Amino acid sequence: MSVVIAPISESLIAYLGSKSYSNIIVLADNNTKKHCYPLIKNLLPKHTLISIKAGEEHKNLHTCEHIWATMTQAHLDRHALMINLGGGVIGDMGGFCASTYKRGIDFIQIPTTLLAQVDASVGGKLGIDFQGFKNHLGVFTLPQSVLIDPFFLKTLPEREIRSGFAEIIKHCLIQDGNKWDEIRIKDLDEQDLGDLIAHSVEIKKKVVAQDPTEKSLRKILNFGHTLGHAVETFFLSKGKNRLLHGEAIAVGMICEAYIAFDRGLLPEKTLEQIESFLFSVYGKVNIPKENFEEIIHLTLQDKKNKGKEVRFSLINEAGNCLFDVVVSKKEMLKSLTYYQG
Ligand code: NAD
Repeated sequence: MSVVIAPISESLIAYLGSKSYSNIIVLADNNTKKHCYPLIKNLLPKHTLISIKAGEEHKNLHTCEHIWATMTQAHLDRHALMINLGGGVIGDMGGFCASTYKRGIDFIQIPTTLLAQVDASVGGKLGIDFQGFKNHLGVFTLPQSVLIDPFFLKTLPEREIRSGFAEIIKHCLIQDGNKWDEIRIKDLDEQDLGDLIAHSVEIKKKVVAQDPTEKSLRKILNFGHTLGHAVETFFLSKGKNRLLHGEAIAVGMICEAYIAFDRGLLPEKTLEQIESFLFSVYGKVNIPKENFEEIIHLTLQDKKNKGKEVRFSLINEAGNCLFDVVVSKKEMLKSLTYYQG
């Protein structure tokens, strides 16, 4: 899988020049149709645009049906290309639709959020939410290419930049302690995002190459995600006050760093640094105590689990992460209590 970080006018023209497709379909949401599609429209030959409503709540089978139906109406054959122009929702769902349509057509990812540029677009995990569970249905299929252009971020709301930054922090914490030391002493607006995008992509590519289907090492990319996904799902189910993915992962990273500390794996100083930096960037989310049990119950659906054991990826220092660590309900409860303070 190639990942190209370059102006989209160069990378897209180069990609299309190297291929021959019977048809092209572009998937966008209402925001990327408005802000990002104009930047690629004139670079493309004749194509069909599908625009769906933006938001995680539309990452579901119902929207897939609409996408597959439009692909069918446009008479797409197996030699067609799908271009996913958007954030992680578009990339995950568009890739899923492309890789299942007529048993699979080519697709490329053009990530337009920071989160999708540093994480979601790389690595071939595709899917949708189902019955309230995050990414419950999906496949591993690599895109033909990922074309990253940081210019797309110019129209991205600040809250979304902050959300994507959580995955950058995660990459540093699991693989690069020196980079963690660099970023944790700067505010978000002082960070060199261009450099950090390239850094995150390198880490993600390296880890995925060693374990494409998450049998072992790739699980480290889930640091912060076991409790983070549970917290995200919990807030999603409540409708109001939805947390963005990265905001939930920030909660998860604090809780999971605490679990590692509590087990004697992680030094207290590192826990304090993580907590203080994440609180400074994300603030504290109010998670009602009476909902802790419900959140912990949601971790039973985590895809890293084996049987009824909930398996975590825990860091034992900044820059190194263990995986398949079985964590008890009691420890999860203690970590949420610690987070809430
Ligand atoms: P998103 O796709 O919902 O995008 C966030 C918002 O930004 C949306 O409202 C979108 O319309 C808008 N937007 C996108 N690009 C824009 C631009 N350039 N200008 C203005 N607005 C723009 O969310 P996300 O944070 O990108 O991705 C979250 C999703 O990614 C979750 O569903 C998560 O599960 C998934 N994810 C997948 C992986 C993976 O490996 N496949 C990894 C991490 C996260």
